[in-house]
Amino acid sequence: MLPVSQAEKIIFNLVQPLDGQRDTEVVTLLTAIDRIVAAPVASALDFPHWDNSAMDGYAVRYEDVQNCSEQQPAVLEIVEEIPAGHEPQRVIQPGQAARILTGAVMPVGADTVVMQEQTRRDEERVFILASPKPQEFVRHRASFYRAGTPLLPPGITINAPEIAVLAAAQCTQLTVYRRPRVAILSTGNELVTPDQPLQPGQIVDSNQYALAALVAQTGAEPVQVGIVPDEPEALKRAIAKALQTAEMVLSSGGVSVGDYDYVDQILAQLGAEIHIRAVAVRPGKPLTVARFPAAASNQKSVLYFGLPGNPVSALVSFWRFVQPAIRKLSGLSHSWGPVFVKARSHHDLRSDGKRETYLWGQLHLVDGSYEFQLAGGSHSSGNLINLAQTNGLAVLPVGQTSISAGEQIQVLQVSSPIVRTC
Ligand code: AMP
Ligand code: MG
Repeated sequence: MLPVSQAEKIIFNLVQPLDGQRDTEVVTLLTAIDRIVAAPVASALDFPHWDNSAMDGYAVRYEDVQNCSEQQPAVLEIVEEIPAGHEPQRVIQPGQAARILTGAVMPVGADTVVMQEQTRRDEERVFILASPKPQEFVRHRASFYRAGTPLLPPGITINAPEIAVLAAAQCTQLTVYRRPRVAILSTGNELVTPDQPLQPGQIVDSNQYALAALVAQTGAEPVQVGIVPDEPEALKRAIAKALQTAEMVLSSGGVSVGDYDYVDQILAQLGAEIHIRAVAVRPGKPLTVARFPAAASNQKSVLYFGLPGNPVSALVSFWRFVQPAIRKLSGLSHSWGPVFVKARSHHDLRSDGKRETYLWGQLHLVDGSYEFQLAGGSHSSGNLINLAQTNGLAVLPVGQTSISAGEQIQVLQVSSPIVRTC
């Protein structure tokens, strides 16, 4: 049984990210949100596009205003008014100025802007009451970005700030990684779909839906294969089909040591290298991780996760191992790993200390500090009902049997914390 840290290392090393040349698609600005940049983005435009004013004021020649004060103001003739969007028509000569507004293009001849507050206007003349610094309040062309140089690097996620940058740079289309496809299958003769009438002894396949939701939330495309009975031939067919349609396959159930647990044996028959069979984690001990090598040079290897059937174990395994693996597969160059935060526990937490233990509950952000509230009810891996509202998993490492209320604990953050102010 592998320690969690070792299992994590093996899994993350097995992930082969999508190919930035081949596994891409072109999206428009409005559909780029949450996508991952696949190729460096450059713009044909300098930014700023022109020398322009950072203030409302007067565009002047610095040499005309370098020695002035309230007592001895420089007096300049206003020859033009330049609002934003207007192309200057005049060249500023000695003794002249142009009224200029924020963002407007600097007129030829002027090199400095005097802010309005340092001036007094008298019809077509302006009195400069204090000397500016040379080139003050001028934003020079290309001082923020030079055309053709890298604007956005590959491997980052497009959020609103990047949309702003792309729009300003007139990059209306960009190349992003396509979403990786993740096939999901549930194994078990006892399983029925949520809309089928329940016969005695049957169990509703919740994993299919929970995993599909998690896969979609992680930015990948879930491919739902459905329920597969515990029959070796049926399982083999379903896994072989999943391998053809996806870069990653998740199955749940059938990976422990019961009489109907066939998954490992079928993976081996289909040519997989099995890297992990069990991890010292609670919940989630039976976890199979295998890799199907690429069938041809233009194909990719497929990573297979055989998750435990217990709904809580399946979800905890997903959050701890699969979610970061999907993020890495998606092309993210960083920030794909699991996120741990330090939080103050509201409750006493217990573990047998033999395996790394994950206790689910709510992560709150109270005045900037994290707090962890254990979910009420049973922490049995069969109890999925108290998973609702889970956004964090408190971690008790091997050897640690308890944490007292009020102590700090590491929490795996699985979605945004609930923000509260005292
Ligand atoms: P297994 O790992 O196949 O032995 O399953 C362990 C437990 O999880 C059994 O009680 C199963 O009925 C239950 N289980 C397995 N697969 C699912 C599923 N897809 N949805 C909900 N419960 C499941
Ligand atoms: Mg089963």
